[in-house]
Amino acid sequence: METPKILLMGLRRGGKSSIRQVVFHNMQPLETLYLESTSRPTEENMDSLVKFQLQELPGQLDVFQANQEDQSHLYSDVSSIIYVIDSQDEYLMALQNLVQIVETAYKVNPKIHFEVLIHKVDGLNEDFRQDTQRDIIQRVTDELTDMDITNADLTFHMTSIFDHSIVEAFSRIVQKLVPKLSSLTQLLDIFCARSGIEKVFLFDANSKIYLATDSSPVDVETYQICSDFIDVSIDLANLYSKNGSMQSQSGSQQLSCLSKLQNGVNVYLSYMVKGLLLLGMSRSDSQQKLVLVENNICVLRDGLEMIYT
Ligand code: GDP
Repeated sequence: METPKILLMGLRRGGKSSIRQVVFHNMQPLETLYLESTSRPTEENMDSLVKFQLQELPGQLDVFQANQEDQSHLYSDVSSIIYVIDSQDEYLMALQNLVQIVETAYKVNPKIHFEVLIHKVDGLNEDFRQDTQRDIIQRVTDELTDMDITNADLTFHMTSIFDHSIVEAFSRIVQKLVPKLSSLTQLLDIFCARSGIEKVFLFDANSKIYLATDSSPVDVETYQICSDFIDVSIDLANLYSKNGSMQSQSGSQQLSCLSKLQNGVNVYLSYMVKGLLLLGMSRSDSQQKLVLVENNICVLRDGLEMIYT
């Protein structure tokens, strides 16, 4: 099967390279200030529960100068298009560009997921954020309706590299491409019910994108805690990797730990398969339960290995 392709598009200085660096290379947000503008398409590859290739297309590449055949070729094997809009800048040009891309890509491949990032929202106050979101959605939907495009799959996300919203958005985007996601969600529901766990995530250890979770809702604060917890645990594991007790390129493999947070929540973290970490949260603790959870984690790991490797 071909590797699903995701295109990262948008006007120059919208934030594409920064997003790629922060999500896939753990770059600190402030360091992106010094990023050089990308002039050639750049790729990231992920091979976990889902395999995909993310291609950043530089803003100065004018895809509309390409002929019809080239455009068809560009979009024919694309699963998702992520379009980045700088919400702190005048965005009408970007919206026009986005609508043109949707129009062309939808004709070539109506199954494409269009993921619109209303980006850099850290610079907007709460009221202005909501207004901007409403305005952008309204304008794009009106334009597309005028073109008779009413069934395109468009999702809007408010993002910033200065908080967890960008990785949270990527999680939602990538999850749409995970094969057998609904069965996996059911499996995680059963895992929670049988283990007395309230919330469980499967994270990609490198990017902190979560590729699956149980069916209960996710709130940003919980995600934030989990993401920070993984960072700290991997750093600690790396500290000990030199004397041989933990060993892997990222310190995440063979990682298995249990911690109690200040708010009384117990967090279970365990390496699964293919760069995936399971993170479970529960309010109650007992020795008996710990044994049960550990046993169920092993069963789940075997199941994932059978399905995804
Ligand atoms: P590209 O040309 O689309 O690849 O844009 P860059 O990634 O080079 O980003 C352009 C500028 O936007 C850089 O100075 C980044 O630091 C800044 N930037 C990127 N993301 C954000 C964000 O979420 N918030 C803010 N305030 N600035 C951002």
